[in-house]
Amino acid sequence: MADGAIVDDYRIRQSVPTIEALLAAGAEQIVIVSHLGRPKGTPDPRFSLAPIAEALATVLGRPVPLVPLPPAGSPVEQIVLLENVRFDPGETTNDPAFAAALAALADVYVDDAFGAVHRTHASVRGVADLLPSAAGLLLEREIAVLSRVLASPERPSVAIVGGAKVSDKLTVLDRLLQEVDMVLIGGAMCFTFFLAKGLEVGTSLAEPDRIEDVRRLMVEAGDRLVLPVDVVCAFAMEQTAQTTTVAVDQIPAGQAGYDIGPRTIARYSAAITDAKTVLWNGPMGVSEVDSFAEGTRAVAEAVANSDAYSVVGGGDSVAAIERFGFAEQVDHVSTGGGAMLEFLEGKDLPGLIPLRA
Ligand code: ADP
Ligand code: MG
Repeated sequence: MADGAIVDDYRIRQSVPTIEALLAAGAEQIVIVSHLGRPKGTPDPRFSLAPIAEALATVLGRPVPLVPLPPAGSPVEQIVLLENVRFDPGETTNDPAFAAALAALADVYVDDAFGAVHRTHASVRGVADLLPSAAGLLLEREIAVLSRVLASPERPSVAIVGGAKVSDKLTVLDRLLQEVDMVLIGGAMCFTFFLAKGLEVGTSLAEPDRIEDVRRLMVEAGDRLVLPVDVVCAFAMEQTAQTTTVAVDQIPAGQAGYDIGPRTIARYSAAITDAKTVLWNGPMGVSEVDSFAEGTRAVAEAVANSDAYSVVGGGDSVAAIERFGFAEQVDHVSTGGGAMLEFLEGKDLPGLIPLRA
């Protein structure tokens, strides 16, 4: 959302098949529970689900009234959207009383929120522990797709990992390096690898306290871990900044690397073209700024044109691939960011455990 308006309704549209399946199966009433942003356990109009209720009504072609939290009495319409559950402090603490209040709204719980299954929250875990529970169609598909690319990928399989902080992605890198044939690194996280190699990175975003971790990764991975060979540098992360493209051992003092360069793009695109499976999380550069978006755009194009089975996840990565117009050519665009990473890490996600029982 931007300025109170929905700019991307992908997750809303993805929730429709389960809602329609429930209606077709004869559900008398569907109470949709969701959250938006981090309102800190108190009502905050900036995070109201009112615009979501409107958008959902449009895609469903039926009225979807927004009901307050906690609902006073039983809502009468067949489909209702409960106001942002994070307006109640009991949501994120998985408070038993709040979970019980949510559970009292229904006979059966269906979890279709893949993006939240890594949270031990009342609407994710607490309710599932109280009611007969099942995975929705979207959640089921997310798990099936990610399991497939991890456990039985068609080879060669290539993972592309970018984004801001290597510390967020060390565990997933570790796991991916065991499962896939090649990991292409982009985004700011490459600079911690360059520090580990003893290169100067100027003012690039890097995490010196993670040098030992990335050194260990490099040793274990050998040539399956691929780093950029050139980067686009500037004094500032601004559209108007003068940019220079240099080899990674030539980053000018006082400047930072904000995107991968053309030689890296060519290498990464070739690897993606040859791949049979591609898994992508994290932009190759500061893709929100046009001057530093070409690496992400070009990699998105390579993924879109590749015959590989392709999966893209992560809030910023998905936003970029949609903005560049390649989302339709990707086999699976995940609705999970953090949840996808934790699933790929091999964690037993708290929201999935009660669904198996
Ligand atoms: P996702 O949301 O897809 O998981 P992340 O949140 O991990 O991705 O990373 C996206 C962020 O990384 C963006 O805000 C982007 O500006 C930032 N980023 C990528 N490359 C660089 C870079 N070279 N320098 C600074 N920030 C970067
Ligand atoms: Mg992000």
